[in-house]
Amino acid sequence: LEAKEEFEHSSLAVDVMRPRRGDPALAVLTQDGMTVEEVENLVENTHYSGFPVVVSQESQRLVGFVLRRDLLISIDNARKRQDGIVGASLVVFTEHTPLQPPEAPPFLRLRSILDLSPFTVTDHTPMDITVDIFRKLGLRQCLVTHNGRLLGIITKKDILKHMAQIANRDPDSILFN
Ligand code: ADP
Repeated sequence: LEAKEEFEHSSLAVDVMRPRRGDPALAVLTQDGMTVEEVENLVENTHYSGFPVVVSQESQRLVGFVLRRDLLISIDNARKRQDGIVGASLVVFTEHTPLQPPEAPPFLRLRSILDLSPFTVTDHTPMDITVDIFRKLGLRQCLVTHNGRLLGIITKKDILKHMAQIANRDPDSILFN
């Protein structure tokens, strides 16, 4: 993320974020609504480096961000070492554990691997500001919201691709800005 000049264009976060129209939906985890098996399936069937955690699918309120690597390690450890953790165990990212039905297997508590303050911008944030923040904070990704609802994600690579596209479309812009 070097030259700043390329963003003398009026791109907004919404123009760079994923998913784009027609892409599969953003892959998110819910804070206390998924089983170990469901989380494992999501992680195995996608290649993303991380997953936003939301209150519920309906609300899409952001709770935090969890790295794929940390999820895999924690689930693997729990399955090996933690008594009673099975595919049907509920994964819980909340501070307080929900009431447990008498017959249910123990919860897998994963709040400790959750980043509770992932960086976010709104969909209308200009990309020059977003790029500045990426540089200054050394971010790898940032989340995009609209009216408090999670909309998408922007990774460093998404920004680099976007810069390359602008340069292709309009090579002079880089020389003369
Ligand atoms: P990178 O962009 O460095 O390859 P990722 O592998 O995490 O990082 O992301 C690959 C692509 O998928 C990027 O375009 C990114 O915006 C998008 N992406 C990242 N995480 C998710 C997610 N949880 N759900 C949907 N798309 C995602």
